[in-house]
Amino acid sequence: MPVNIEILIGDATPFSIVDFPDHIAAVAFLQGCPWRCPFCYNASLQPVKSEGQPMWTFEKFLNFLQRRKGVLDAVVFSGGEPLMQKGLLDAVLAVKDLGYVIGLHTGGYRPDALIKVLPYIDWAGLDIKGPKAKYKALTGGFDAFSDMEKSLDLLLQSGIHFECRTTCDPRGLTVDDLFELGTFLKNKGVKEYYLQKYRPIEDDKTTSDSACESLISDEKLISFLSGAFEKFEVRR
Ligand code: SF4
Repeated sequence: MPVNIEILIGDATPFSIVDFPDHIAAVAFLQGCPWRCPFCYNASLQPVKSEGQPMWTFEKFLNFLQRRKGVLDAVVFSGGEPLMQKGLLDAVLAVKDLGYVIGLHTGGYRPDALIKVLPYIDWAGLDIKGPKAKYKALTGGFDAFSDMEKSLDLLLQSGIHFECRTTCDPRGLTVDDLFELGTFLKNKGVKEYYLQKYRPIEDDKTTSDSACESLISDEKLISFLSGAFEKFEVRR
């Protein structure tokens, strides 16, 4: 039966054990992101329309999920920015109907969209770009901090399992920024926080691996963050 849900899949991963804790998931990378983070690994997903014919229609994705029941147990909606998609709620419901648990990766763009899907989400990963004063630079010129904060508050109020994580690009973040951000998240009541090592993207000729490593290796910072959250790790 044709599926008429307005959702654009830029790419998909049929099998992942790293995108949803303790689950074997398929990941749908949804096309389109409003932001332009300088450290973006998925720049091809930024435009609201992909170039050429997409590899995956939502119908094809659902058929794939139907066949993989019993092998996979979860589906993650990632991006791009999933909360941009008009059909996200319908897509989540269609996948949930197949018996999958649902994960969401988001930067917290559009809390009004998050509030609609939140009752059907089983786990979320919220990307926190940096401290308030740097948010504009870290999202490529957007005043996005208050939307992220509202989304964070919604996740906290919902009681669902979620993590916060920050990509540590030394071009835009310092150790002091990460102290400030960690303090902000601790005071909010966040339980799980991860620092992710930045691996210089192709266009970035200015950063070295040692600068990336140094930012996530500061002993005082790591000790502070380890004590501030129930779960904290550096992901390399
Ligand atoms: S929010 Fe994510 S997908 Fe969008 S530009 Fe930033 S890193 Fe890329």
